[in-house]
Amino acid sequence: MGTFYVTTPIYYVNDAPHIGHAYTTVTADALARWHRLVGDEVFFLTGTDEHGLNVQRRAEANGLSPQEQADRTSERFKDAWSLLNIAYDDFIRTTEPRHHRAVQALLQQVHDSGDIEMSTYEGLYCVSCEAYYGEDELEDGNCPVHKRPAELFKEDNYFFALSRYQQRLLDWYEAHPHAITPESKRNEALGLIRQGLQDLSITRTSLRWGVPVPWDRAHVFYVWYDALVNYLTAIGYGEDDERFNRFWPAVHHLIGKDILRFHCVYWPAMLLAAGLEPPQRIHVHGYLLVGGEKMSKTRLNAIGPADLVADVGVDGFRYHFLRDTPFGPDGDFSYEGLVARYNADLANNLGNLLSRVSTLVGSKCAGIGPAPRPHSPLEAVATEVYEASAQAWDRVAPSEALEATWRLIRETNAHLEAEEPWKAEPGPEVDAVLGDALEALRIVAVLATPAMPAACAEVWRRIGLSGSPSERRLPDAARWGGYPGGLDVQKGKPLFPRIHVD
Ligand SMILES: [Zn+2]
Repeated sequence: MGTFYVTTPIYYVNDAPHIGHAYTTVTADALARWHRLVGDEVFFLTGTDEHGLNVQRRAEANGLSPQEQADRTSERFKDAWSLLNIAYDDFIRTTEPRHHRAVQALLQQVHDSGDIEMSTYEGLYCVSCEAYYGEDELEDGNCPVHKRPAELFKEDNYFFALSRYQQRLLDWYEAHPHAITPESKRNEALGLIRQGLQDLSITRTSLRWGVPVPWDRAHVFYVWYDALVNYLTAIGYGEDDERFNRFWPAVHHLIGKDILRFHCVYWPAMLLAAGLEPPQRIHVHGYLLVGGEKMSKTRLNAIGPADLVADVGVDGFRYHFLRDTPFGPDGDFSYEGLVARYNADLANNLGNLLSRVSTLVGSKCAGIGPAPRPHSPLEAVATEVYEASAQAWDRVAPSEALEATWRLIRETNAHLEAEEPWKAEPGPEVDAVLGDALEALRIVAVLATPAMPAACAEVWRRIGLSGSPSERRLPDAARWGGYPGGLDVQKGKPLFPRIHVD
């Protein structure tokens, strides 16, 4: 047992929630649920990033104040997470007073250390990224992410002396070889650091929609440096040292590869400058592509979670993104892939097993579920499956964890096919086979509950158990023999009705 602090990026409030945001958030939620099962003290943080020029401009275009714009979009993220059964412990908004206090405290600390100085900055700026680009980083003058022209900006700014941190960052990463996963992203971050680091402009005078700089009120902090601090705000930085030290630096940041530079280079340097340890783990995932392209509002290829939930349900949605998109490389979303995975793994494998077993218990055991055998052929499978999935969740590989879990479902189905209890007369032989299958379903309900909390609770209820699988604790709950027998097993509607596509 320990602590498990997991974060998503905070999402920018000029964009509506789409399946790219959902992918990261569902992954964080499943990890948090897994760690609750193993008895860790979990803190799962998500939220919204609400400052910056983009929000100010978007608000103006919509005839709103920036705060109204932020309130509206933040609410849409909360609604999406409630739809997807996301059990976060805290939802931070960067416009909250607690966050302003933390940003000011942290950056005052860096200023006091002498690593923030005034200078003039002129450069090409992508308003959508809220970032300056070097000419060599642009593609025909366009932002490489947004494919829109960068604008020439010039202002007197405070700069963070990032250039002083090149060697310290390299040393730190050398001493912490597992801080960034996967390995390819660690190499990418080290490459950026080795290229040489330029000082960063971290304040703006050209807008008001931000956190005021405490030592010079003509400036606000540039949105990125304000946003990153959210990870500290939520665990009590500057206000609750005991709590802060319990969760920092043992954090797991989940991020997309487009924000690698901010999280793997700028953020650790800022923390070092403030006398804090860099984050212990940064897990970088690829883009979730649609038809081979990154989703974006400007390209109108963004898919909202609700569109898909209408077809495959909340748990079908969650399962798909956890199982079908290995965490790390780019994933390509397709509706055909979603339906194929749903039909194969959920309707056929899990759904079929449950309905088969509950029907047979009805016809052969008068609806009373028998106990499993102490030395079932499935026991060894269950043990291996638990170990493989526990290791995979620890490596932030939900796709492998679920693949392992589904092996128990497949083997149980195969076991039934081989034994053919539907052909046999009721009696101890049939009871033994069905007891084993019920026990396998019980274990699957525990192991898959991080991915599909509602469906697993329903499996639990139908095989006659009380409470819910999420209240159980691993590894005990995965040990063979937990199904007591003598419980009412209920038949019900298909848990995952098959989807027919024309
Ligand atoms: Zn951009």
